Amino acid sequence: MLKKMQHYYIMLTVFLLAACSIVTEGSTVTESIDEGNELYPGIKIKSEIKRDKDYHYAVHYPLTDSQEINDEIKTYIDTRVTKFMIDMAEDKLGEPVVGLHIDFEITYFTPDYFSVEFSETLFVDEAMTNMIPFNFNRVENRKIELQELFVGEEEITIVEPNDEHEIVDFLVKEPVIRFYEKNGEIIDLPKAQLVGQLQPEFLSGYEKKEKKTKENKGTKEEKMEKGKEEKQKANQKRIALTYDDGPHHLYTLQILEELEKYGAHATFFVLGNRAEFHPDIVLETMEAGHEIGNHSWSHPKFSGLSKKQIVNQIEKTQDVVHSITGEYPTFVRTPYGSMSDSILNAINMPVVLWSVDPKDWKVSSSKAVIDNVLNNVEDGSIILLHDTYEHTVSATATIVETLSEEGYEFVTVTELLGLDEEESQRAMVINSGTPK
Ligand code: ZN
Repeated sequence: MLKKMQHYYIMLTVFLLAACSIVTEGSTVTESIDEGNELYPGIKIKSEIKRDKDYHYAVHYPLTDSQEINDEIKTYIDTRVTKFMIDMAEDKLGEPVVGLHIDFEITYFTPDYFSVEFSETLFVDEAMTNMIPFNFNRVENRKIELQELFVGEEEITIVEPNDEHEIVDFLVKEPVIRFYEKNGEIIDLPKAQLVGQLQPEFLSGYEKKEKKTKENKGTKEEKMEKGKEEKQKANQKRIALTYDDGPHHLYTLQILEELEKYGAHATFFVLGNRAEFHPDIVLETMEAGHEIGNHSWSHPKFSGLSKKQIVNQIEKTQDVVHSITGEYPTFVRTPYGSMSDSILNAINMPVVLWSVDPKDWKVSSSKAVIDNVLNNVEDGSIILLHDTYEHTVSATATIVETLSEEGYEFVTVTELLGLDEEESQRAMVINSGTPK
């Protein structure tokens, strides 16, 4: 581990020197802070998003009440973004449009300790996701070393029958400790197997606050019925607006307000880690008559994950949405729309992509989003949007107003597709209309 870290910091000084001129050029970086909630007291989410004609990046990271911890995290983020900018300036990343997306998951949170795993996804045509762990001592405001996890002082290696694995990094999670091997492999060891070896403070987690749960009142079945009936209704043009990557602390609620003005319903493909952070917004979204879909836990590219990791991304999100709303999502939308037989097989739920993509993550004005949607929409369209951008809020207002006047009805994905239960249990790719 030491070796890797030294390497990291040596690179850092070089990059930061070169960084300033590159980062300040071109379009500006949009920064925002999400105030968080009582689940992780004192933790906020900082977002930095930059869109340029040739590339974009979006990074999200936690802000704690400790300056030292924030500095460690910020150094990592700046180093990674700067490396991305330099690699791009030197044409090392290739074509076409490239992007960097960093997101995170808090995996351990007690008054004294805090662990977070970052997922870095670099996409150039095919995307690659890398996992980077951090573990902090919140009392002393510093990173925890691997040796501190254990009672003894022996060298840390994991021994399998024919194999010895050299550990370079680790992550405290529930109910496992995750070890990162030198060869790039990741191994999760149950804490139960480490009793006696692990320091007691890492054995159990922070008692999470009880979340609001709503009873399942069979509304999903009613909606499917309604969907089937409406499918048969002639003359009514119907489309499904879909919003990915939320819930967002500001924009999701603003979008709900715009939709409500026209009685429009939409589908929100949430990230499990965001839903866990904002259960109140998820509940409000569902109670307003919208549908909640599953967009994975932390937005990795599924083509780079094992079957087990994909199942984990889907199931954790199913569970967190169920714990908030009392209902399990019926549909999955994979991050970056990645799709293959093995991915579908692992997900084992209907996967819904889209037929109209105005690329609101790439453009910076609502006009471009509005024009794209209005030019491409037709009866049965599924429109891809993100409730994480301010310009998507204003685009939503105009799109819903204009298309309402043209006689469109805005329905959820379940209502649009009118699937019955048997259909919805089969894994399938649904791409409504003609892909544009
Ligand atoms: Zn997404």
